[in-house]
Formats: sequence, C-alpha cells, structure tokens
Amino acid sequence: MTRGQPADCGGLFLRKQVLASAFHIPESLLTQLDKVSGFDKVAFLAAHEAPAVTSVRLHPLKGAAAPQGSEPVPWCTSGYYLPSRPVFTLDPIFHAGAYYVQEASSMFPEYLLRYLVDKWDGLRVLDLCAAPGGKSTLVAALLGENSLLVANEVIRSRAAILEENIARWGYANTWVSSNDPRDFGALHGYFDIIIVDAPCSGSGLFRKDPAALEEWSENNVTLCSQRQQRILADVWPALKEGGLMLYATCSYSPQEDEEIADWLADTFEAGAAAVPVPNDWGIVVSHSPRHGLPCYRFFPDKVKGEGFFITALRKTGEPAAFRYPKSKALRTAGLREQVRPLLMDREQVVVPVADGHYAMIHPAHEADLNLFQSQLFLRRTGLPLGKPAGGEWLPAHELALSVDKSPEIPSIEVSREEALGFLRKEEIALAPRPRGWYLVVCEGIALGWLKSLGNRYNNYLPKHWRIRMGG
Ligand code: SAM
Repeated sequence: MTRGQPADCGGLFLRKQVLASAFHIPESLLTQLDKVSGFDKVAFLAAHEAPAVTSVRLHPLKGAAAPQGSEPVPWCTSGYYLPSRPVFTLDPIFHAGAYYVQEASSMFPEYLLRYLVDKWDGLRVLDLCAAPGGKSTLVAALLGENSLLVANEVIRSRAAILEENIARWGYANTWVSSNDPRDFGALHGYFDIIIVDAPCSGSGLFRKDPAALEEWSENNVTLCSQRQQRILADVWPALKEGGLMLYATCSYSPQEDEEIADWLADTFEAGAAAVPVPNDWGIVVSHSPRHGLPCYRFFPDKVKGEGFFITALRKTGEPAAFRYPKSKALRTAGLREQVRPLLMDREQVVVPVADGHYAMIHPAHEADLNLFQSQLFLRRTGLPLGKPAGGEWLPAHELALSVDKSPEIPSIEVSREEALGFLRKEEIALAPRPRGWYLVVCEGIALGWLKSLGNRYNNYLPKHWRIRMGG
C-alpha cells in the first residue's frame, strides 16, 4: 500500500483484485449461494485465495502430545491446527496411528454427538460412506468398548484404505464392511446412529483440491442430489426409532444440503435434533426451507477449515430392542488361552475369521457377528489377532497397532531414523536379543512386529504397508 493511502482504499483494491482472480468459482454456484443465509461472496472468494489449513486429531489413548505451535480446534477435544503442513509420510508416529490428519470442519460431528448422545455404551453405529475413515476414527474414539461401529465403504479400492486407517486407530469394536447401502436395509431398526457423509459435488473442497473445480457442474449437483436420496432411502430402515441420522456433505449447494434435509422429513418420520453452537465459532446455522430443520454450514471465510455441511435428524417413534435371529456359537475357547499373553486382561472372545486367522471381539458382539455373517461382506471383524503357525502364534500387524494389546509384550524402542527404515521394510541393525517376537516402538507408540532370530531380525511389516518415500 502507498504511504498515506487510507487503509480502506487498500482493502477495496484487494477485494476487487480477489474478485477478478477468483473467476474459477462457477458463477452459477455463487448465485445459488447468494440465497444461503450468512453467505458473504467477497469474503468467500478472498478465502479461496488463501492456502488451506492443516489439522490433525490426536488418538486419545496412544499418548502423542499436541504438536508444537499448534492451536486447538474449538469444536473437537483432540483436534489441532498445525502451523504448517509437514510430510506426514515421513513421520513414524503417523503410521502408528498417533493422530489422524483430518480437515477441521469435518471434526464437528464430535460436538454434535457429544450434545445429542447421553450414553456411549451398548450403541450400534453405522458410518455408511466411511472411506478414508475420518468420521469413523472420530466416532470410535467416543464409543464405549461394548458399543459397535461398522465402518462401511462400497467402493472396494477405497475400502482397503479405510481398513488400513481403522487398523492404525486400533479399536476392536470398529469393524469394516464393504456393502452397498441397500444391503443394510434388511437390518430393520438395528442402528442407534447412522452417519451418511455422502458422495457429493465437492465444492467445499475447491480450496484444498482445485481439481474438484473441473468436475463441478450444475448437472452433477443434480445427479449427486438424486444419489444422496437413493442412499438415504436405502439405509433409513436400518435406523432405530428414536435413533440419530447425521447427514453431511462437503458441498455448498442447497440442493445437496438443506433440500436433502427437507426431503428426509418429507419422506420419512424424522424430526430435528438441534444443537446450540457458540456464535464466535463462525459456524452458520441455516434452516431447511420447508421444515425449518437446523443445519450447520462451514464457510472457509468464517471458520478455520474447509467447506462442510451437516445436519442431525431423529427418527421418530418408540425405540424397540432389535431382535437378533437365533445364533450359533462362534467362540473358540482353547485359543483364548493361547492368545492371552498378547491381549489386555479384559472381556474378550476369540472367533475364527477367513483363512485360518482369528480375531478378538467383545462378548457383547457375538450375536452381531452371527447376524452380519449372513448379511454383509465383512473385511475386518473385531481385532485381527493372526494365526497359529509352526507351533507358535504368528501375530497380525493390526495387533501391534491395537489399543487392546498387552503392555507386557516385549518391545524395542527405536529412533525415528530406525523407525523409517522399519517402515520401508528394510532390515534394521539392532543389538541381538533372545529369539521371539518384539513390538517396534517409536516415541512410545508401536509400529509393527520384528522377530528376533538371535543374531538378526525379520521385519514383519506387511508389504502393502511399506512406505516408498525417501527421507
Ligand atoms: N466419511 C469419510 C471420511 O470422513 O473420511 C468421507 C466420505 S466421502 C465424502 C464419500 C464416500 O462415499 C466415498 O468414500 C465414496 O467412495 C462413497 N460412495 C460413493 N458412491 C457411493 C454410493 N453409491 N453409496 C455409498 N457410498 C458411496
């Protein structure tokens, strides 16, 4: 700014420049948004000239400290904004599940749920569109161990990424399925909470992912809105009367947001589940046009985060206990003794899964497993434990990352450098130790398994978990 020029003039000049350079935000989207309460076009366009913010959510049990120079995310107890974006791939404790990299606005479901849910025990929760796992890991951290979270992703390749992230997070009560939404329709009144973080036109991610701009069109918004209705109609029967539906998108279009909330209330027996939000958080509380359902909008000029939309609805009617079909016994009592030294001393049952492998589940979930075996394609059941092989127990990688493993398992603390070597699946030179299995631990958090052969070690990191980046 030229010396002596009034500050306001400088501001106006900047605003004009921003408007001129932000031509890439589609005009038709801006026209739609002009009708949304709280939308400020100039500030919104200016925010798209600024870089996206980076935030992480700490694992509540793995013990990582708040990152240096970070600031808390107001609506999430374990969320932190980072001062800059590090190379996460080169941080060993990222691979150990010490934190999840999640865009801050998307952490808001924690606040909604903390307000709307009065007990965390005995719940059945479905995260229907779950990959890569942001909402699932957020919810898993809230639930009691006898609650069950099904993290589902219909697209197989994305389900693999989801499974990895769920394994890193390490909760035995988070199972992974890969089913079409309509496959849940038969589980009438089963879930207490369903989260539909729907596939959408993605305008809320323009700043973070400019490629989303190229895919955006009014026609695509309409197609997404129709698909969102199909997904919700398919899964709605699975929600218990009195249960909660959280519906979210990363789109700004009312057609995918408030109008879907209205469509739900038009089509099903659903009412508002309102939550008061502090004004100074910058979240815009809008209302659906016909039913006045409260909705929460995140604009990047008002919050430190990307574009996001969420609403909570309660299915009306009297809650009834779900009636499980008659089930057969699944537990394998003998193996429970064999794996006892690997697990914390808690209520657990060991059940067979595919290919001679076993998993640990909470006893409260045996009937659920029986039910799902005939209804769903489960990719992960409980906590994978591994399998017996050659007179010993071959431990699953997931067990190393689990919060249920025994603190008595022998471990080897390694430097960050050595940890990266382990994660590249290199042989790492360590002092000899007696033969047997060891957890590789970095900054107090387990990364995987090494087997000592006396004079050298075998690295048991699964091949597909290997990092390929140099450091
Ligand atoms: N909830 C995730 C999180 O927090 O990390 C993000 C979910 S993303 C917005 C939407 C997901 O829906 C994608 O993983 C996508 O593969 C999935 N999806 C795409 N088409 C679908 C469909 N027809 N039914 C259900 N899910 C679908």
